[in-house]
Amino acid sequence: MMNKQERLALILNYLEELFPNAGCELNYRQDYELVIAVMLSAQTTDESVNRVTNQLFSSFPTLEDLDAAPLHEIENMIRTIGLFRNKAKNIKGITQQLLTNFSGRVPMDKEQLMTLPGVGNKSANVIRAEIFHIPEIAVDTHVHRVAKRLGLVKMEDDVVVTEKKLRALLPEDLYIKLHHQFIHFGRYFCKARAPQCRQCHLQTICQEPHKNL
Ligand code: SF4
Repeated sequence: MMNKQERLALILNYLEELFPNAGCELNYRQDYELVIAVMLSAQTTDESVNRVTNQLFSSFPTLEDLDAAPLHEIENMIRTIGLFRNKAKNIKGITQQLLTNFSGRVPMDKEQLMTLPGVGNKSANVIRAEIFHIPEIAVDTHVHRVAKRLGLVKMEDDVVVTEKKLRALLPEDLYIKLHHQFIHFGRYFCKARAPQCRQCHLQTICQEPHKNL
C-alpha cells in the first residue's frame, strides 16, 4: 500500500512522462489579449476560442482599436462560441476598464483583475500565472475532475476546497507547470466521458468508480 507521498510522486512522474511540455493553449500576443481569451474560454474549448480570436485580434490589433470596435462587429466575430453576446459585452468592458482604470496595462493584483468583467477567481489565477509567473493553481473542470479521480481531493469537494487542498499538497514551484499538466491529462487522456484507463499507469490509485476498463 503506497503512502500519500508515494502516490503523489507516482502522479507527478507520470504527468511529466506524458506531458513534459504542457503549457497554455490559448493564443495571444499581448497581455490584454490573454485576459480576453481567458474570459472567452468559459464553457467552451481553447480551440474554439483560438479560432475566433485569430480574426478578432488581427482585425483590431491594439487595445484602443478593440475598445473602439462596434459591439455588433465583435459579436459577429465571436458568434461561434457559447454566450457570445455576453462575452462581446465583456470584451468592451475589459478594454474600457483597462484603459480607464489601469493605464492600458493588465494589473497583477488579484482583486483588481477580478474587477474586470467576466474575470473570476479561476481566470485571475490563470492570468497571474501565465503573465506574471505567480504560483497559482486555477481549478477548471479538468483539474477538478482529475484531482478527484486521483484521490488528491474528495469527490464531494468544490472548486474552492480543491484549490486550497492542491495548494497545500503540491510543491509551490511546480504549481504553474502542474496546472497545465493536469489540464492536458484531463483534456487528452483522462477525459470526462471516455478516459483512456486501459493505458493509464495510475489505475492502482484511481478513485473513479466507473473506470473505462
Ligand atoms: Fe483517469 Fe482512467 Fe487513469 Fe483513472 S484510470 S486516472 S479515470 S485515465
